Amino acid sequence: MIMEEARKQIVEYGKRMSASGLSIGTSGNISVYDPETGYMAISPSGLGYFDTEPEDIVVMTLGGEIVDGNRKPSSEHGLHTIVYKNRPEARAVVHTHAPYATTLAGLHTTLKPVHYAMMGANVYEVPLVPYVTFGTPELADAVGIVLKDNPRARAVLLANHGDVCFHINLAKAFGLAENVEFTARIQWQCMCAGTPVNLTEAEFADALERSKTYGQQPAK
Ligand SMILES: [Zn+2]
Repeated sequence: MIMEEARKQIVEYGKRMSASGLSIGTSGNISVYDPETGYMAISPSGLGYFDTEPEDIVVMTLGGEIVDGNRKPSSEHGLHTIVYKNRPEARAVVHTHAPYATTLAGLHTTLKPVHYAMMGANVYEVPLVPYVTFGTPELADAVGIVLKDNPRARAVLLANHGDVCFHINLAKAFGLAENVEFTARIQWQCMCAGTPVNLTEAEFADALERSKTYGQQPAK
């Protein structure tokens, strides 16, 4: 099976995405990109993750041509493609309708550094893509414009829709989607209780620097 490992990963992380509440029903989609072949493996359209098998994952080119799989690809395949075209380092994209990130997107506001957990997004403020109808090339184009304007960003909010997170592998992209949702929840709760106090740019930069030596480091 072409991209077998990636397809298995997408099924596994899709179940995690559903179980964690990051996306309900058949909403949300996940892709993995292989730069050697130029192929993208992406979740199928309208199939629940607990009903999805690796062979249901669609393999396609960034030009939209299906290489393997009997299913229709996610209607947001253009949105995933635009990320890989704009970010050569991206290997995985997670698109969710996570409730708190989508709350901010419904307010047409950006995600602010009210907690350092969102530093995986690699920007002080996660930008907002203006509203465009789901599943359209125009939405993908709008995401592309915001990615060009924010060359460091690894996440964007989609107005009245959800979010898009990407990284150098699927584990990191999924972790980023969780952290974006956590921070969005904290921001929203702070907005409900008073006025959020964001980290300063210097504090944010410090946290980002600190993150480089946090956790298990490879043995020297
Ligand atoms: Zn969506």
